[in-house]
Amino acid sequence: MLVFLQSRNGITTLERADPEKLTTQPAFLTGWIDRRDPFRSKDIFVMKRTRDVRLSLLILLSSLSSVSSQVNPGVCRYPLGMSGGQIQDEDISASSQWSESTAARYGRLNFEEGDGAWCPEITVEPDNLKEFLQIDLRSLHFITLVGTQGRHAGGIGNEFAQMYKIKYSRDGSRWISWRNRQGKQVIEGNRNAYDIVLKDLEPPVVARFVRFMPVTDHSMNVCMRVELYGCEWLDGLVSYNAPAGQQMNIPEHVVYLNDSVYDGAIIYSMTEGLGQLTDGVCGLDDFTESHVYNVWPGYDYVGWSNQSFPGGYVEIMFEFDRIRNFTTMMVHCNNMFTYNVKAFQHVVCYFRSESDWEATPLAFSPSVDDEDPSARFVPVPLANHMASAIKCQFYFADVWLLFSEITFQSDTAMYNTTLTPPKAGLPPIIQPEDDPTHKVDDSTTRILIGCLVAIIFILVAIIVIILWRQVWQKMLQKVSGMANEIQMTESILSTQSETFAYSHNQSSGGTSEQESSSTYERIFPLGPDYQEPSRLICKLPEFAQNSEEPASSSTVAQDGVPHYAEADIVALQGVTGSNMYAIPALAMDLLSGKDMAVEEFPRKLLTFKEKLGEGQFGEVHLCEAEGIQEFMNKEFLFDVPEEATVLVAVKMLRSDASKNARNDFLKEIKIMSRLKDPNIVRLLAVCIYSDPLCMITEYMENGDLNQFLSRHEPEGQLALLSNAATVSFGNLCYMAAQIASGMKYLSSLNFVHRDLATRNCLVGKNFTIKIADFGMSRNLYSGDYYRIQGRAVLPIRWMSWESILLGKFTTASDMWAFAVTLWEILNFCKEQPYSQLTDEQVIENTGEFFRDQKRQIYLPQPVLCPDSLYKVMLDCWRRNAKERPSFQEIHRVLLQIQP
Ligand code: AMP
Repeated sequence: MLVFLQSRNGITTLERADPEKLTTQPAFLTGWIDRRDPFRSKDIFVMKRTRDVRLSLLILLSSLSSVSSQVNPGVCRYPLGMSGGQIQDEDISASSQWSESTAARYGRLNFEEGDGAWCPEITVEPDNLKEFLQIDLRSLHFITLVGTQGRHAGGIGNEFAQMYKIKYSRDGSRWISWRNRQGKQVIEGNRNAYDIVLKDLEPPVVARFVRFMPVTDHSMNVCMRVELYGCEWLDGLVSYNAPAGQQMNIPEHVVYLNDSVYDGAIIYSMTEGLGQLTDGVCGLDDFTESHVYNVWPGYDYVGWSNQSFPGGYVEIMFEFDRIRNFTTMMVHCNNMFTYNVKAFQHVVCYFRSESDWEATPLAFSPSVDDEDPSARFVPVPLANHMASAIKCQFYFADVWLLFSEITFQSDTAMYNTTLTPPKAGLPPIIQPEDDPTHKVDDSTTRILIGCLVAIIFILVAIIVIILWRQVWQKMLQKVSGMANEIQMTESILSTQSETFAYSHNQSSGGTSEQESSSTYERIFPLGPDYQEPSRLICKLPEFAQNSEEPASSSTVAQDGVPHYAEADIVALQGVTGSNMYAIPALAMDLLSGKDMAVEEFPRKLLTFKEKLGEGQFGEVHLCEAEGIQEFMNKEFLFDVPEEATVLVAVKMLRSDASKNARNDFLKEIKIMSRLKDPNIVRLLAVCIYSDPLCMITEYMENGDLNQFLSRHEPEGQLALLSNAATVSFGNLCYMAAQIASGMKYLSSLNFVHRDLATRNCLVGKNFTIKIADFGMSRNLYSGDYYRIQGRAVLPIRWMSWESILLGKFTTASDMWAFAVTLWEILNFCKEQPYSQLTDEQVIENTGEFFRDQKRQIYLPQPVLCPDSLYKVMLDCWRRNAKERPSFQEIHRVLLQIQP
């Protein structure tokens, strides 16, 4: 367990961090611990284990009483208010949003509100860096660290930014792209939707506005939650202008004394930027060496030779955010006199408060040191001058002047190197009128009390955890008799609160029947392929204690059909009805969105031909669409016949559907409109200006794959005798390969289908296959993912063990479902998967997959299936999701299979 001590409002509090999440934050830990900067090692507030508490407390106490005029990047790492809520919603904006529930304000790290994250309107494309999430910090901040997380939404979400860039601005108009010390802009982001990844900004930035811009190497769905870490920029320095740094040639090295992280313009001189003189890193005594790994000699310093400055001085102008009362300027200078480098011998500073420079400058001459070669801060008293700009001329004491840091103290504001947080809304670090000594003492006492409380809290937490673990382990051993389950069970326990929604929802659903009976959450066809796993899961020994409701008080009806919100089902069954709804925002969004690939089609140009089927939303009709080509996005035209009248499938929402059903329908449209692949069913146009809402898709002549294969037989004697229609093994593989190809496309978008099965694939002419029914993925951005009355109704026979037990849906769980679909295909859909098992036994079998004691039952090898292909199927059902093949591999394998 990791424990995280943090000071809020001057009182140190202890946060018990989610162990799963914290252990996956190496950047954070190393960021605090492994810094080579001597300042930084003192201020470690992350404790690896509870036995480190005393040590950490000592470390903590040793760092209490320091205030400084200089920002310390090792300490300046406070969350700036995305996760803590101090940043207001109106200060978080974005280039676009997918829907109201994925607006910018949901982009807060560790928040699960709305649909769980900020998601931009469109798929992020590699060559299109338009999308960003923007934070306005309201004042300048020194930002040292950024944190990102994807959209997890309790196991439903799976969108994250694998890479991103940062842009920042101090004034809201000039935007600067952040680059690391090697000049690279792209930051590696998340690898999954739930872990927080923290990245040091090296170099840190001074900014008021920050933009996170997701970057991808292929077009994909991206969602982000973010946090900024740092502290307020008390210097108020907005830019410095100085002559460009120069190059020194000494016998051993060429020393580059340029300002390599300057973020303004550099031509002959540097203008309107900040850089190494304000990055918080002081150079070493030996200027040829650096704190920073893998950089060139002289990296920490900006330096000038007197040969280029006939006046004998270097002039630097500093611009500030407002008029300030300046007390001191601290200039960190190198003094390696053996190399003709010395701190300045004299400085003359001019002040400007309004438009004009003051006539009388301030002069100061520090003593020149010919004995001690160590680098040092030279304080220059500024005698309470009021100014918004200062221009200083630093006179050479030797051939070279080398500065690594310049800071300003004004208005008595000081950086606190203790744990006191700096964010507005919390107590300021030091009030101008406060007595600093008193302030430090007071804060010391408060922090000490906080530490003691924290330690007590840690001890209590440890005892509780130990006891809890023991009880849990005993239970496990007793029930399963296998000690090696403990580790995995811990992981389940740690995630069950967020992902194991079924059992909790079940109990709440069970007790609040009336409350929820009017709530439409998701309507499924009442087919036997979908079951409610929660009550069945409760019977697994590992999960038995999670059920407050005895399994006997089943909500599953006698026939095995789940107990739906019946009122809704009934209400949704009538197709007539004349409810008129205002066009919801989402619909407007669909039609007005610049990137939308779908247009409104005049309903009167549709002529009904026949009913094709019935789905969860309503009926699907075969219609003739007159002149549909004119209403279609040109990119989609290639598949559509040129005749004036085209046959199309029209999926209609029952006109009396609830508001949620309408929203889900519109969301499915939104998803489908963005999918462009030969093996994904194409949305041609929509009718959403009036009821009933319709989606017009391409017509697939042979209906769904399940029905199609059920009507066919394998080639052979038997088929010949019965005169049945046949499909060759080669064509079966061809169809499976097309499904793999469509899935390859979806997975490249980071898009999880969640309901892959033959019933959700459509068959056209010549065995063409297209994946359809995005009913489950439709709720991609919906927090109430496929629950009816708080209960989940799921295609359990197609689902991976982790989807059933942990609620985890990933491309790897789609791969599991793909192998079940392949199994259906090779069996000509004559049999349901695990037909010999009841639903309860299917869930029990899932428990066996989880336990992995070789007691799990696999679907048997179909008669038509060669050994090599069955082996691939078994690979798809591996317990470890990472060991399952990718859709690329599967696609390749299927193309290669020879009958
Ligand atoms: P759905 O609501 O998508 O589950 O569709 C219900 C049924 O309508 C499917 O099982 C198919 O038999 C039929 N169907 C749906 N879309 C199409 C289409 N584009 N072409 C032909 N038949 C379709």
